[in-house]
Amino acid sequence: MNSRFYVTTPIYYVNDVPHIGHAYTTVAADVAARFHRLKGLEVRFLTGTDEHGQKVARAAEENGRSPQEWVDSIVPAWKELWSRLDISNDDFIRTTEERHKTRVQEFWQRLYDSGDVYLAKYEGLYCVSCEEFYKPEELIDGKCPIHGIPVEVVSEENYFFRLSKYKDWLINEYYARTPAPVYPPSRLNEVINFARDLQDTSISRSTFSWGIPIPWDPKHVIYVWVEALLNYITALDYPDGELFKTFWPGVNFVGKDILRFHAVTWPAMLHAAGVDPPDLVVAHGWLLVGGEKMSKTKLTGIHPDQLIETFGVDGFRYYFLRDIAFGQDGNFSWESMLARYNAELANGIGNLASRVLALIESTSGGAVPDPVGGEQDPERAFRSVAEKAVVAYDDALERFAFHEGLDAIDTIVREANQYLVQTAPWKLAKDPSQRKRVDAILYAAAEALRLLAVLLSPFTPAASARLWTSLGVSEGLDAQRLPAAGRWGGLVPGTKVSKGESLFPRVDG
Ligand SMILES: [Zn+2]
Repeated sequence: MNSRFYVTTPIYYVNDVPHIGHAYTTVAADVAARFHRLKGLEVRFLTGTDEHGQKVARAAEENGRSPQEWVDSIVPAWKELWSRLDISNDDFIRTTEERHKTRVQEFWQRLYDSGDVYLAKYEGLYCVSCEEFYKPEELIDGKCPIHGIPVEVVSEENYFFRLSKYKDWLINEYYARTPAPVYPPSRLNEVINFARDLQDTSISRSTFSWGIPIPWDPKHVIYVWVEALLNYITALDYPDGELFKTFWPGVNFVGKDILRFHAVTWPAMLHAAGVDPPDLVVAHGWLLVGGEKMSKTKLTGIHPDQLIETFGVDGFRYYFLRDIAFGQDGNFSWESMLARYNAELANGIGNLASRVLALIESTSGGAVPDPVGGEQDPERAFRSVAEKAVVAYDDALERFAFHEGLDAIDTIVREANQYLVQTAPWKLAKDPSQRKRVDAILYAAAEALRLLAVLLSPFTPAASARLWTSLGVSEGLDAQRLPAAGRWGGLVPGTKVSKGESLFPRVDG
């Protein structure tokens, strides 16, 4: 098994106002990072900002700032959002940093020297928002298929990368790998179809200057896409840094709209330079609002703060990964978020925890009871369900099927509630002859809480930490490792628990 895990988000276009779509990608990558730390792997998690290109230069000009001043003024808002959302990134790269610029130049110089880059005249239909050329048949009513805005006819002399030369390698070797280098595997066909028609791709622009100069011809700047993609390795000190040797190749999380760049152009560029392609590109679907893709132009962009204020950071992190099958499109609605929050977090996990901790306080003086001698069939049945759920959780998260991992957690919560109704320890506690039964039942219920705190920790880190503190376990939650922490029986009898505050306070619609 691999002992290291490197995961990245796309670097976000600095001009964008952060919305819940960006947060969705970043939280998903964060859950993957936290899960792999929980598995005991050495993890590196990168996010950052994409700061070059014509669109940034234009926005800076409109705001009367230099491009550098402009991006410097925006980046803090991105960093603050990730900090607020408990994102555990180890590094944050900005493409205007020197460490990125010099290594990008080094990379493209290498491909120029090896004959994979040439100069040619190019005319095409260009969307300024995408910073991308389109073929006429890709447009919708003559407009950009992503932004719905008119494209511009752009004619210039550009440097080109011999992307078409790598078509056979992509199709016959890279995409043929097992497991497939694209998630969900259902998107692999779309990628292969695109690759069949592969053309050489332009890698420079000479009509504006806000970018990284082509080292052998500084009248040109490197096209923002083939420059930004390199952040995943420049942040690891490509080509010879220790981090690069340790962590590359990694896993790139992206939205499905940029899958083409990540699963076609990116691996081909790397292969041409003698670098391993990514192990996996994980593409998630779009968050739809009222059936449409969220965007600031359509005013459907929702800032995460609007939801965090009501549902808390953990409620926010939980909802999107729970409600949407990861990889598919999903519809966001306030009503659905409210319903799930109250049913699964407030009434589900939150109530279970406060009920069990209150029972231990009232019947066992606040100490985890000793189950020995009191266990019967209901405990054995409950334990068996919980153990299967832990296995299902692990399997799901290894496959990035976050929603299935949360299904497994939900199974434990439901089963625990049924088990308590069935065994009714609050009734048995009135009869002193049932002492051992009550002890065994409450031990099992408390053990379920311990498992839930561990399994939920990648998704709801702050609430998990509070639950862990309530359970009084001396070893920190951060020190827990699967599979050991997922084995039944980890709670030590006699451990002092405390009720603590509500994990997920109910929200009134
Ligand atoms: Zn566009």
